[in-house]
Amino acid sequence: MTTLLFWLLFLSGVGAFAAQVARRVQIVAAAPNTFSIDDLPFRINRFLVDVVLQRRTIRERPAAGLMHAFVFWGFVAFAGYTSVEFLRGLGVADLTHAAWFERYKLALVPFACAVLAGIVYLLIRRAFVRPIALGTHVSIESVVIALFIATLMITFLLAFRLTEGTPAERLNWWVHMLVILAFMALIPASKHFHLVVSPITVFLKSPELGNLPNLDFEKEQVGLEDVKDLGSKMRLDAFTCVECGRCQVNCPAWGAGKELNPKAIILQTQDALLDGKTGTKLAEVYSEKVLWQCTTCGACENQCPVGIEHLPILIGSRRGLVSNGDAPEYLGAMYLNLERRSNIWGLGYDQRTKFVQAAQLETFDPAKHDVLVWLGCAGSFDADFQKSLRSLFSILRAKSVKFGVLARERCNGDPAKRTGNEYMFQELANGNIEDLKAAGVKKIVTSCPHCVKTIGADYAKFGYRVEIAHSSVFVEELLRDSGSASLSGEREPGRSATRSAEPSVVTFHDPCYLGRYAGKTDEPRALLTRFGADIREPERNRDNPYCCGAGGGLLFADKEEEPGSRISDVRFKQLQATGATTVVTACPFCSIMLKGAQASAGADTNFVDLMTFVDGRLQPRA
Ligand code: SF4
Ligand code: SF4
Repeated sequence: MTTLLFWLLFLSGVGAFAAQVARRVQIVAAAPNTFSIDDLPFRINRFLVDVVLQRRTIRERPAAGLMHAFVFWGFVAFAGYTSVEFLRGLGVADLTHAAWFERYKLALVPFACAVLAGIVYLLIRRAFVRPIALGTHVSIESVVIALFIATLMITFLLAFRLTEGTPAERLNWWVHMLVILAFMALIPASKHFHLVVSPITVFLKSPELGNLPNLDFEKEQVGLEDVKDLGSKMRLDAFTCVECGRCQVNCPAWGAGKELNPKAIILQTQDALLDGKTGTKLAEVYSEKVLWQCTTCGACENQCPVGIEHLPILIGSRRGLVSNGDAPEYLGAMYLNLERRSNIWGLGYDQRTKFVQAAQLETFDPAKHDVLVWLGCAGSFDADFQKSLRSLFSILRAKSVKFGVLARERCNGDPAKRTGNEYMFQELANGNIEDLKAAGVKKIVTSCPHCVKTIGADYAKFGYRVEIAHSSVFVEELLRDSGSASLSGEREPGRSATRSAEPSVVTFHDPCYLGRYAGKTDEPRALLTRFGADIREPERNRDNPYCCGAGGGLLFADKEEEPGSRISDVRFKQLQATGATTVVTACPFCSIMLKGAQASAGADTNFVDLMTFVDGRLQPRA
């Protein structure tokens, strides 16, 4: 009788679970396939570190992360126990008296205590502390799930105190099993579904941050227009979100009071998919305005603990808009500049030639030169950033590095790619690849982090692979390998480190495309400390910097029309709060944005580019 009852309850619980999972599987399976398992060793390693060891969860929020990890490890550890109890309840087999099971049960006791401690901590945090990332209201569903988990652990521990076969023991067992069945029925429709899918999502997440596979125009791909265009990984992501809000609180657009909220983007995707709105325009699901507020800084997907990728959705939707001629007006002007003059400013190439001649740069020749210096749009035309490049040339010459430049350069295509103008990006990229190949370039140095990402990672998607380094990385390695200009005072013949007796107090603004995308955070700091700088770290630094606001084409947006504060103003205040009077930058666009914020604030902060800082301390004696 009880076995029959258990069968009925089991089939109801499992049936409810299976029906809801099947619906989600169907939605994912109906999508264009965007799953990839390239670079398996990287994926396996990340799976072990971020899923099994829960590194990312613990690293970002140590206390809450550890408590969450206790719950996750307990969930895994209890899988065998739950299976054995189900077999027993269903009358299939009773393994509960086996010696190994007794030992296994004892081994689960510390797990049960840890899960209990973890869930109580998380419940208190959610219900009473209520961090902003978790939303303004307490979710009843979360409270119910937490109580379920606590009940499971308490009933498990209680079973040790109860004599088998007594009414109390039977009641305890039934409560335990019924809670598991209710849990199963509840989780697919809740954020706790991540317990099941997040290991898969983390494994399937691209090894490359902000991975945007090329559109294939021969297959008439135009980007994402409607809900039905969302790829399989994007759909799986939508069902994995745990609503932790890490993407939200780390998003500079959200932080500056704009409407964009990456967590909302994922939850809106989930709703649209579950509501079956396959023909709805994505610009309606998210709102067109919001799609243009993203700087492509990558903080959201870099912070997400469950492997969700926001940028393919955001930029994919931009592609869909651009293909229909729906880009914002300010981008129209930039696209025209790229089309007519192959640079974002729309300036004539004679100006680049003048700079190249004035700086006495040679055209790259693989027989003569070790490395190509890629100037980029800023280096080719922006007088301010050209000062930084002159510093780089001076350092390279001082270290006898033989370098040249291309006779002509187009924009690398980053502003076109990140704003969704894939056709223009491919035109620019293919032209540059042709020229780089024809010139026989094997190694590139550039002072623009966007060029590092685009030429290094996006061009690889055309099969073109070249070694490219940001100048901070190249110069640091150069100085380290030559053992010169160290703080020990060792000097180059004829050159001296003109360090002042007092260290310079500086703060360093990590560019998103250097610190976060390229993961290069030590080298700029090593250069600064090598020359006596006393670095004051700002809030949001290293591989999780706060964006300057220029990325994703927003350099050209009308700042007066932006809702909320300017991202650059928020960042400038964070830098000012360090108390350092000098801000060191390492990206032309960060420099433009932050100097603009400084002018608006009327502050007297000094800005210095990293290469200028280094060169200033390597000047020959007069
Ligand atoms: S890439 Fe940056 S700006 Fe865009 S949604 Fe993510 S965190 Fe926000
Ligand atoms: S997308 Fe990721 S980081 Fe953002 S709320 Fe969902 S789980 Fe958290």
